[in-house]
Amino acid sequence: MTQLITLPYAPDALAPVISPETIAFHHGKHLATYVNNLNAAVAGTEFEDKSLEDIVRSAQGGIFNNAGQILNHNLYFTQFQAPAEGNAPQGRIAELIDAQFGGFEAFKTEFSAKGAGLFGSGWVWLSADAEDKLVITQESNAGNPVTKGLKPLLTFDVWEHAYYIDYRNARAAYINGLWQIINWKEINKRLK
Ligand code: MN
Repeated sequence: MTQLITLPYAPDALAPVISPETIAFHHGKHLATYVNNLNAAVAGTEFEDKSLEDIVRSAQGGIFNNAGQILNHNLYFTQFQAPAEGNAPQGRIAELIDAQFGGFEAFKTEFSAKGAGLFGSGWVWLSADAEDKLVITQESNAGNPVTKGLKPLLTFDVWEHAYYIDYRNARAAYINGLWQIINWKEINKRLK
């Protein structure tokens, strides 16, 4: 039985980058629906007691789509903190970004462009391979880099439901805002 995650911050903590209204719909309606749909779909199947990652690695169709969306949203919602001007990576992830992308600004530019340029609904990801080589990938719909053997570190949801209340069609403005609310301590935890 998969549970809807509890957010590690108040519903208004991310404003104005993400409004309480978006949190109410995105977490309280969209993510909750994926959780309800998955629990209904796996009842009595081989997937009933598997972890989300195991389901995403082995299922197809509706079970894959709902499990993928839950795994993706859990990573998305738990990577944020209150907005801070000049928010930037720290520690190990900062070292890896500097060494492999030539600095945070260059990384941000590439990651943002891949998010803005993703056609339709999906996710842009920063992941690490087994040797801590960083890779930026685009995934359509419910895709997650664990299916490619990668460890997901950071993700921007670019489905329209993630930004339409606050930014209307301006996906690039939404992406630009998200950099202010990334909790880089959490990203470092995922790297370990
Ligand atoms: Mn979403």
